[in-house]
Amino acid sequence: MASDSSSVPARVRALAERLAQPRPMRRGSLSERYVKCSKAGCACSQDPQARHGPYYSLTRKVGGQTRSQWVAAEQAERVREQIAAGQEFRQRVEALWAACEQWAQEEVAASPAGEVEKRGSRRRWRRRSRPKSKR
Ligand SMILES: [Zn+2]
Repeated sequence: MASDSSSVPARVRALAERLAQPRPMRRGSLSERYVKCSKAGCACSQDPQARHGPYYSLTRKVGGQTRSQWVAAEQAERVREQIAAGQEFRQRVEALWAACEQWAQEEVAASPAGEVEKRGSRRRWRRRSRPKSKR
């Protein structure tokens, strides 16, 4: 059973289409920091409550190394949204992977020579009814 593009399962197609809508996004995390300054006599040197901030720092791993950059306070909310978009993207990639693997499994199970998996391999994979999305 050859699979051309017209036989793409609806679920796989839907997931792939959602991935094909790029938007600004990031990996990493944003943290809020309160810092001491170096001014002589400034209260921040004694009193944690008097520290300056918040300052925002974006931290991410690049090639195994942790990198940080400051983010202007007025940009912090936007950066948070970009990070959330990145996490959502990662979840969608995982969902697409899972759907494609099921599809691959189905394809192999459906071919006469491919009955490698014993349990339930003749049956079409069941679509699980998903719980209602909260989004
Ligand atoms: Zn200070």
